[in-house]
Amino acid sequence: MPDQEIEVLVVGAGQAGVAASEHLSARGIPHLVLERGRIAERWRSERWDSLVANGPAWHDRFPGLEFDADPDAFVPKDQVADYFAAYAEKIAAPIRCGVEVTSVTKNEGKPGFRVVTSEGAFDARYVVAATGAFQKPVIPPIIPANPVLTQLHSSGYRNPEQLPAGAVLVVGAGSSGVQIAAELQRSGRQVYLSVGPHDRPPRRYRGRDNVWWLGVLGKWDLATPGAGAEHVTIAVSGADGGRTIDFRELAEEGITLVGRTAGFADGVVRFNPDLAANIAAGDANYLSVLDEADAYIARNGLDLPEEPEARVFGPAPESVTNPILELDLAAAGVTSIVWATGFATDFSWLKVDTFDELGRPRHQRGVAAEPGVYFLGLPWLSRRGSSFIWGVWHDARYVADQIAIQRGYFAYDGDASPVVSSTPQTLSVGAVES
Ligand SMILES: Cc1cc2nc3c(=O)[nH]c(=O)nc-3n(C[C@H](O)[C@H](O)[C@H](O)COP(=O)(O)OP(=O)(O)OC[C@H]3O[C@@H](n4cnc5c(N)ncnc54)[C@H](O)[C@@H]3O)c2cc1C
Repeated sequence: MPDQEIEVLVVGAGQAGVAASEHLSARGIPHLVLERGRIAERWRSERWDSLVANGPAWHDRFPGLEFDADPDAFVPKDQVADYFAAYAEKIAAPIRCGVEVTSVTKNEGKPGFRVVTSEGAFDARYVVAATGAFQKPVIPPIIPANPVLTQLHSSGYRNPEQLPAGAVLVVGAGSSGVQIAAELQRSGRQVYLSVGPHDRPPRRYRGRDNVWWLGVLGKWDLATPGAGAEHVTIAVSGADGGRTIDFRELAEEGITLVGRTAGFADGVVRFNPDLAANIAAGDANYLSVLDEADAYIARNGLDLPEEPEARVFGPAPESVTNPILELDLAAAGVTSIVWATGFATDFSWLKVDTFDELGRPRHQRGVAAEPGVYFLGLPWLSRRGSSFIWGVWHDARYVADQIAIQRGYFAYDGDASPVVSSTPQTLSVGAVES
């Protein structure tokens, strides 16, 4: 069977793929989105049952559609998935579900790419990789598999009932680890939470949500991460209606805090003696946001209620002042470990020359080093917001523009007058040059 021809092939129909489709359609660019599962599949099947959005409904959305929810609410994950399915319908996105892209290779001697899928092959002039940043669960190789110990990644965690009876060690205190630890503790489990370096911005301060502060302080738009920022996890969540994460409060509720998980031998897990330092650095990050917010309010003369109590911390818990450095899992009754230790990308299907020696995509604002290939949804693709719902929509607009510009060059037939343009929205060569 000959390969089907398509101008732009978008791989993945999460929020990034849906946003790409909207902007390509707006420019009249023919395209097809292939999704191996369902629209927004990861929100449906790769996250725990009680997960809610990290940002309020008024913010964590695309400009073209509001959530059917209180704008200040943190909507449940299934509602997020339904939102993107509804959005795709609203924009009549050409999405084919249940089709996996298994390889993309550069055509020899002609433009474009050969895209092999579970349902035949395509010849695509352009390829947009919208398969997300959170693809492959990462579990550090610390504790070997052991039949009496259940180990799972946060992407495989669903609810407390899933785990065998007994205590749980949750490793990683970013947004996922903190929420999972709190849920397990409330279900009646003894929980140990391993806390590494983290930022913990206030959920709300002086009447405004964290997403608002990130916006007005220009932080969503930061173009490059601060030193080490790519590696520092952020502990912020919409759980319980949205409350600031304070590790002292988690300890007060009964969670035993421990330092970064460092090693394992003879049934004993070893933790770094860094718990107090990690909490202090998280506090400093929290206070720096309050300082910046206060300065912004003063500079702009805003009438927002003062909140001095936000600067008052409770006493350090026993687990911080006198930290456990070793935990004998059997003696402590720990029967499971949840690794909330993040994700890696997996572009093994994208067999083109656009990755560095560590396998990281080489690109500029999503325009790959391999001409004709584009990325969306990667952390810091163009700015801090790039891997989030709000940010990817703006990146997709830029990427669609770049594709339109390239199409303008291809449409040029050697005679600059009249300028050739295949659709009214397609940028002509003249427009490119001006
Ligand atoms: C636990 C968690 C909570 C989060 N909460 C929020 C939040 O509240 N707000 C927010 O803004 N962001 C949040 N994020 C970050 C980000 O918004 C999500 O990760 C989001 O799912 C990323 O969307 P995406 O479209 O870039 O990628 P994905 O949602 O990962 O979509 C990629 C799609 O590609 C498909 N796919 C992959 N490989 C192939 C292939 N070879 N062929 C065909 N299809 C393929 C997948 O099935 C998937 O549907 C969260 C992330 C995590 C991990």
